[in-house]
Amino acid sequence: MANLQATQTQVVILLGPPGAGKGSQATLIKEELEMAHISTGDLLRENIKQGTDLGKQAKSFMDEGKLGPDHLIFDMLFARVEKPDCKKGYILDGFPRNIAQAEELQKRLRSHDVMALNLSVPDSAIIERITKREICKTCQTPYHQDFSPSKVKGKCDLCEGELYQRSDDTKEVVEIRLKVYHEQTAPLIEFYEKKGALQTVDSNRSKDAITEEILEKLQPSTVK
Ligand code: ADP
Repeated sequence: MANLQATQTQVVILLGPPGAGKGSQATLIKEELEMAHISTGDLLRENIKQGTDLGKQAKSFMDEGKLGPDHLIFDMLFARVEKPDCKKGYILDGFPRNIAQAEELQKRLRSHDVMALNLSVPDSAIIERITKREICKTCQTPYHQDFSPSKVKGKCDLCEGELYQRSDDTKEVVEIRLKVYHEQTAPLIEFYEKKGALQTVDSNRSKDAITEEILEKLQPSTVK
């Protein structure tokens, strides 16, 4: 079983369907692991907010629940991982999303230590999770209206930022995102399993239980 080594730049890939808790868990483990958290979805949403050319293209594929073109995602992601905060290691949330992306990542990461973590959640739990999700506009921390509400309605517990619902978090778009996940992203589970670089975590449990298991599986004592 692959474990992270302390000597190379470490890359943790969070796999799992939309709403599996990739963003929540990345936020919780990044400090413990001293790694940057890179969410391709957040990078795209930032481009939309800034009105960049990429943002203009992203708006349409994101609102449809489809994946963006690989080359656009590569340019955005590989520029991000060059930044100094990624030197020790980084957590990828939302990338790779298909086999072509995983192969490109592998080409670029020859001297990195890669571990994929599959956050496993049944489809039946996903719609309920996502359609009641709220996210902080400022720090992107996710909340759930029933399971993990913010202390003050509409405000982030951590930074007091305003909470909002993503425009692609509707039942109709989530159903498409789930279909895209099964067709294009789920094959990555076998891809990393064959490389001996996969760990699976049952993510249909409380946030704390999942975080604990992730940290155990990543063996933080060797990561630090
Ligand atoms: P979730 O995991 O909840 O579906 P994300 O924020 O990761 O949400 O992604 C939202 C949308 O951004 C996706 O539906 C897709 O349109 C786009 N996207 C994010 N990451 C990628 C990627 N690696 N490749 C292609 N499209 C992406």
